Amino acid sequence: MSARALNSLVKDIRKCRVCFEDGGKKPLPHEPRPVLQVSSKARICIVGQAPGTRVHASGVPFDDPSGDRLRDWLGMDRDTFYDDTKLAIVPMGFCFPGLDAKGGDLPPRKECAPLWREKLFEALPNMELTLVIGQYAQAYHLGKTKKKNLTETVEHWRDYMPTHLPLPHPSWRNNVWLKKNPWFETDLLPVLQKEVKRLLKKSA
Ligand code: SF4
Repeated sequence: MSARALNSLVKDIRKCRVCFEDGGKKPLPHEPRPVLQVSSKARICIVGQAPGTRVHASGVPFDDPSGDRLRDWLGMDRDTFYDDTKLAIVPMGFCFPGLDAKGGDLPPRKECAPLWREKLFEALPNMELTLVIGQYAQAYHLGKTKKKNLTETVEHWRDYMPTHLPLPHPSWRNNVWLKKNPWFETDLLPVLQKEVKRLLKKSA
């Protein structure tokens, strides 16, 4: 797919209202606002869950303390992180799915991935490394090779390299997980940063 065709696909995604006007299933409680960052040049892609309230308001992915931690993990500054020719950001659901009764984010909308994901990844021909954040993204992108839970999947990160690397969400909610799993910082992050550096150099 050409860069022009990718632009046209992204325009279609930005106009999508399927979860707002689906005439049957529970519609989104707000106007859709798909949040994604793509270009046909990027070699690294972050696949996560779905935007939260803050990202829904700003339209800027990972513009929060979780994003700061993620950039630290990658060894990447903000300018590079938001350069779509260097990094693609493709959540499992492009729009904020709303909140559950306890005030937590609902799961990514199920309608989104089957509608857009395959076409979109076909249009990212230079992709070499996909960073797979959280259980929904791991279920889709790692399929049957995903282990029985997130910790086991991330623990087996070497099995997915060099094309995929599973990660936990960089949220403060995972501080306890990070303490319990020190190998994540000592073993996985240095390899991640080395790979990111290598691929950015290739893109320069
Ligand atoms: S979540 Fe995806 S399928 Fe649903 S309205 Fe947004 S872009 Fe469309």
